[in-house]
Amino acid sequence: MSRLDNPEDPQERARIDKETEVEIIKAVRSSDGKNPVMPVKLKPADMFCFSCHDGVSCWNVCCHGADITLTPMDILGLSERLDMKARDFLAKYTVPDTWDRADLPVAKLKMTGQDGKGPCSFMTGEGCSVYESRPATCRYYPLGLASIKPKGSDIKEDFFFLVKETHCRGHDEDNLQSVTKFRDQQGLAGYDEGNRGWIDILMKMASWQSIGGPGGKEIPAQTKQMFFLVSTDVDGLRQFILESKFLDTYEIDPQAVETIKSDDIALLQLGFDWMKNVLFNDPAISLKETVMHQAIAKARENMGAT
Ligand code: SF4
Ligand code: SF4
Repeated sequence: MSRLDNPEDPQERARIDKETEVEIIKAVRSSDGKNPVMPVKLKPADMFCFSCHDGVSCWNVCCHGADITLTPMDILGLSERLDMKARDFLAKYTVPDTWDRADLPVAKLKMTGQDGKGPCSFMTGEGCSVYESRPATCRYYPLGLASIKPKGSDIKEDFFFLVKETHCRGHDEDNLQSVTKFRDQQGLAGYDEGNRGWIDILMKMASWQSIGGPGGKEIPAQTKQMFFLVSTDVDGLRQFILESKFLDTYEIDPQAVETIKSDDIALLQLGFDWMKNVLFNDPAISLKETVMHQAIAKARENMGAT
């Protein structure tokens, strides 16, 4: 068990005490602050009434000035669909931002207009031009996704919240459905599964932030840059893993190395495991024994041991 995962460690204990609900996917689109919203907490079997189609009076209103944080799976899906390298997609369609709760960098979908309140770049007269690859936030709407680790439990629980914004008339439609059915129809299971490691990192960082960062220390800027690379750029991440000293440093199964050469999802999972190790000393991946011995010898040397 790493020091940062040891509940006997006072700092880790303090972090665990700060674990709380963390909102991962937002369900608020209105940015004018005037629209009253009524969040209702829902479990998978809970029912709610909603339907969105091109006959509603508010058709596409929610695709203007929307605040959409892109998940790693969103960027993967959208850049594939547009046949672009992830870094080119990022440059053209996103703006860099910070996920405040965790103080980690994220990419947000760029809205048009000088004030960013115009329509989404993917909106057309016929609707969303990337509908089959639309981001998780667009799929979830009007639901949000939050994760919680109940006190005394090691297992995270997802829950959902329904937000009723006054501009959205989809709530007036006569279509009662469960959260599970809605999520199935929106094709969300694969998204949540692929993003799980990223969600875990955001959640854990949110609790560390309240006591000054992992182990009480702020995260170095370089580590934040690496988190951004892992979260947004599979081509850059693949190049880094295969062409830097990464494979000389970490113990990675040779078969896994072969897999990540062509499998983007497996590559993302390795990237998340690496970040968990760097940020939290998590044993999801480990240093090679020779590297570990060298590090211990160096530490002993620095302490003046012979
Ligand atoms: S990606 Fe599609 S659904 Fe999402 S905001 Fe843009 S146009 Fe709307
Ligand atoms: S019903 Fe709601 S989700 Fe659908 S277009 Fe209107 S505002 Fe957007």
